[in-house]
This record gives sequence, structure tokens and C-alpha cells, in this order.
Amino acid sequence: MISRAGLSVVRQARTQLRPRTGPSPVASLSSLARLLSSLAVLEQRDGKLNHGSLGAVTAAQKLGGSITAFVAGGNIKAVAEEAAKVNGIEKIIAVDNAAYDKGLPENYAPLLVENIRKGGYTHIIAGHTAFGKSLMPRLAALLDVQQISDITAIEDEKTFVRPIYAGNAIATVESSDNIKIITIRGTAFPAAEAEGGSASIEDGVDPKAECNTEWVSENLAKSDRPDLATAGKVVSGGRGLKSKEEFDRIMLPLADALGAAVGASRAAVDSGYADNSLQVGQTGKVVAPQLYLCAGISGAIQHLAGMKDSKVIAAINKDADAPIFQVADVGLVGDLFDKVPELTEKLNKQ
Ligand code: FAD
Repeated sequence: MISRAGLSVVRQARTQLRPRTGPSPVASLSSLARLLSSLAVLEQRDGKLNHGSLGAVTAAQKLGGSITAFVAGGNIKAVAEEAAKVNGIEKIIAVDNAAYDKGLPENYAPLLVENIRKGGYTHIIAGHTAFGKSLMPRLAALLDVQQISDITAIEDEKTFVRPIYAGNAIATVESSDNIKIITIRGTAFPAAEAEGGSASIEDGVDPKAECNTEWVSENLAKSDRPDLATAGKVVSGGRGLKSKEEFDRIMLPLADALGAAVGASRAAVDSGYADNSLQVGQTGKVVAPQLYLCAGISGAIQHLAGMKDSKVIAAINKDADAPIFQVADVGLVGDLFDKVPELTEKLNKQ
């Protein structure tokens, strides 16, 4: 099956390999690695490196070849110095201009184009985050290449694996573009080690182009709890909680007892029980914590798309036939209004 220019979906059954002639595979792989050159686009906020974005460096390490990282924003020196310590990066390109602070894709994409021209990279990699999702398609359009979205594995320098149809099918895609624009799924590429590196820092090119989009303000949900996308434990509530008051009364003490982040199903979010930023699933956050404990969630495929890669899934539901039990490692059939407070009490006593 062939899709639009540059990208083809590879059939899973491959033709048999022909007998090899020429240099040994070890020699040819290492010479290929020397030709590969990745640019990892790192994220920063308020002058601090976002360590979640270091998954892009891990993906670049899997590809092999040289690794450069790109950062931009006001007072970028501190961010660049922090990034220079990340293991595996050879060079940091830093653009010091507050106009790039909020990562507006309309001005960030042309900025990257200028810096990519200079560097001759084969792969540009960013996280499949709100930033990466708005930036990378624009960048791909400006470079007239295909964007390869939300990959979970790298087969070789041109072949990538990505879930499609809310994770119900896995596509292996092959790109023939000479520059690959890739976003990576954070749960599949853990952050590279933040220490051990000693990259050089270089000033990037800043076209200082006029931008028609202006950043006005933001309204962020503030929480002292762990960040949902990267937390080791997540407790999640669904429509079964019945109201915001009950969601808070039942789920928040459990999250506190476990030191967990709080998540929610879309039905819970749409009903106003939980903030939109807490939604887990196809149209929410994709998480893969050590423990995902959910209550009053049926287990619709769109919800599973956001949590099924969790290491241990525990579910509480009063319906023994709820689909969530098909993916749960531990299941408890019962009324969440009894079971969750009981569990919280036991955890607090430990
Ligand atoms: P329900 O399906 O209504 O399930 C509630 C569950 O609570 C039931 O299983 C019930 O048995 C149980 N329950 C009720 N009372 C109790 C009790 N007292 N004790 C124990 N159990 C109880 N959904 C997402 O979650 N995330 C997404 O990102 C997402 N994206 C979507 C994208 C699209 C394009 C579409 C079409 C849908 C999407 N959905 C998403 C919605 C999804 O299809 C489901 O509607 C939603 O996940 C259902 O949420 P729920 O499990 O909380 O509610």
C-alpha cells in the first residue's frame, strides 16, 4: 500500500533476503551510522529544560550517527548548558530570543528551517507533545517532505513503527524522503540520561522573521501532584464517580495515599468531574506508568489507547463484564464508593 509522496506502508511479510555480496554488514552499518545526523528538538519552559523532551535524544541514539540538540527562547544559556550535560549529544544549537519562549509553531518552524539548512541533518526528532504536534507538520510542509508521527519503534534509518486506529493496528512505515521529520511517543522512548555529556554550544541562526501570531496568555491547571504524562503511578476515575464532588472525595485521597498522578476518562472530563488536562486516551494523554489504577471506567478502546501499555493495570468496576477487565492485570468487581475508600484507608495505615 503506497500513501502520499515519500512514505509507504511496508507489508509485514518481507521477501526473503538475497545472498549478501560486498562489505560485511558490520562495516556497512557503521559507515551508515557515520552518515546519519539527527537534530533533537528539545523543549524548555521558563528557562528550564523539559526533561520529558529528552526522549528525542534516546530516539536519535537508537538511529546512530551524530546527535545535535536544538533549543530556543529568552535567556537560553542556562537551558543550553543543562542540555550540554545530556549523555549522547555532541552539539547544542541555541537561539537566544524571547520570541521563541512559548514555542509558537508559526515562528518556530521557519527558525528551524534556517538552522536545518546549515546543519545538513538526516533526521529531525521531537516529542509527540502539544509543541511537537503543532511544530513538526509545519516544518515538514516548509521542507516539502512527509511527517512521520507518534512513532513507537525504529527499525532502521528509514523504517518506523507507529500505532494507528487508536492503537488497534500497528503500521510499519518507510520513508524515502532525504530528511525525516519525526515525532516520538514519549512512553516508548524514555528520556536520555541528563548527566555524563559534554556537548559544545553554538549560536544558531535567527532569521527574526515577522510573525503574525502573537502569544497572549495561558491558563494552566496548577497541581502539586506528579505530572500525569510522566508519573510512575496514575489513579484514574470515570463516569462511575457520578459527580465532581465524588470524584474529588473518592479519587484524590487515593492518589495522595499512593503518591500518584490523577487521570480521568473522557466521559468524566466531559461531565465536568475532572479537568480537561487529566484526560487519558486517544484524544487525551498517553501514559505508561508502573501502575494504572482505575475506578468507574468501562474500558472503551479510545480510553485503552491511552493507558494499555501501563506495566500493571488494576481496575475497580461493579460490572464483571466491563471491557476494562480484559486488559487489567488485577480486577476487583465491586462498588467503587466502598472499595476505593477501603483501599485508601489500608494504604494510609501501611
Ligand atoms: P462509561 O463507559 O459510561 O463507563 C462507566 C463505568 O463505570 C461502567 O463500566 C460502570 O459499570 C462503572 N460504574 C458505574 N458505577 C459504578 C460504581 N458505583 N462502582 C464501580 N463501577 C461503577 N474516552 C477516553 O476515556 N479518552 C479519550 O481520549 C477518548 N477519546 C475519544 C475519541 C473519539 C473520537 C471518540 C468517539 C470517543 C472517545 N472517548 C474517549 C470516549 C469513549 O468512547 C468512552 O465513551 C469513554 O471512555 C467512557 O468513559 P467511562 O468509561 O468513564 O464511562
